[in-house]
Amino acid sequence: NRPLAQLDPEVAAALDAELGRQRDTLEMIASENFAPQAVLEAQGTVLTNKYAEGYPGRRYYGGCEHVDVVEQLAIDRAKALFGAEHANVQPHSGAQANTAVYFAMLKPGDTILGLDLAHGGHLTHGMRINYSGKILNAVAYHVRDDDGTVDYEEVEKLAEEHRPKMIVAGWSAYPRQLDFARFRRIADQVGALLLVDMAHFAGLVAAGLHPNPVPHADIVTTTTHKTLGGPRGGLILAKEEYGKKINSAVFPGMQGGPLEHVIAAKAVALKIAAGEEFADRQRRTVSGAKILAERLTRPDTTEVGVSVLTGGTDVHLVLVDLVNSELNGQQAEDRLHEIGITVNRNAVPNDPRPPMVTSGLRIGTPALATRGFGDDDFTEVADIIAAALKPDYDAAALGARVRALTAKHPLYPGI
Ligand code: PLP
Repeated sequence: NRPLAQLDPEVAAALDAELGRQRDTLEMIASENFAPQAVLEAQGTVLTNKYAEGYPGRRYYGGCEHVDVVEQLAIDRAKALFGAEHANVQPHSGAQANTAVYFAMLKPGDTILGLDLAHGGHLTHGMRINYSGKILNAVAYHVRDDDGTVDYEEVEKLAEEHRPKMIVAGWSAYPRQLDFARFRRIADQVGALLLVDMAHFAGLVAAGLHPNPVPHADIVTTTTHKTLGGPRGGLILAKEEYGKKINSAVFPGMQGGPLEHVIAAKAVALKIAAGEEFADRQRRTVSGAKILAERLTRPDTTEVGVSVLTGGTDVHLVLVDLVNSELNGQQAEDRLHEIGITVNRNAVPNDPRPPMVTSGLRIGTPALATRGFGDDDFTEVADIIAAALKPDYDAAALGARVRALTAKHPLYPGI
């Protein structure tokens, strides 16, 4: 039982280096966050030792009395937080959650209608070589050419034409809120189930800053590690009538033993997400993204061909449009990396550049809001990014401004 640093100095050194990287840079990947120390603590526990196939009160292994308490807390908190009738907290990831829903509700060859990957959808919403696109007949809807928002008329037209068994509403790269009532009406018109994948915006929903899809959808999936700020994992919420099918698709349908140490961390994250501090963090997240969008659409920025898709944001991310810029997505990502800001390049709809290069950036504010950033800090971050995307940028000066921000908001001071 030697400490990690003694037993395995190589792994320990890499872990230390990663903590240093997270502390010393500005993390702006929209799907990332910093799990609170209590969440890390819960995840690093002896629950990793326990097999618990089944569900609380109905396990296929002995000795589950304590993990039952933990999993039931996670289930009850998920239901209460989002107002759901049924919750399954076992999916190992967001992709597993979506795949389990398809497995529960559809048959191979059934049609789903989801947002095109190239227009902001997720791989699991019907991408050609994902399970969803291989096993199901996936039809894609798109965003509009004129304003970049979801083309509901196209959704309706495609739904009438293809009569999907399920419509998937949700996104990985889209800066606006979806109209769940409208998706519900379209689904009802063609007798389709409605799945909302709120992986990206679940934290905003929990804080009351984004409409809640639960009253509209038959099933809602989410990850627990993005805006929700918990451990990496998935979660399924459903109307009671689908509960049994969902549970049996997760286990024994797709997964074996649940990760009870991760489920403990999910329970803690869901408790945190019900509190006022969390709501304040989500307000700073959205406000920071709006500041970023505003500063990246000023004339000195648009002059060099940089703008933001849809002209702004309602959520925790901004999609920077570089179609008219000399910089492509890869170069912009590298340039920000050079000064200590981590983002990911992202294709824009109808992107003229190849997928490995792209003409866009996805920039998110959740991790920095968790770090304590407020409006003034986000204004400084936005000005640093705007300056970095100009031809005459000064890497040394911008890097120093980044370091001043990381020093102002220490990360994990107690570790
Ligand atoms: N759904 C959406 C909308 C996502 O953006 C993501 C992750 O990026 C997922 C599902 C998949 O989550 P995971 O990476 O945990 O499998």
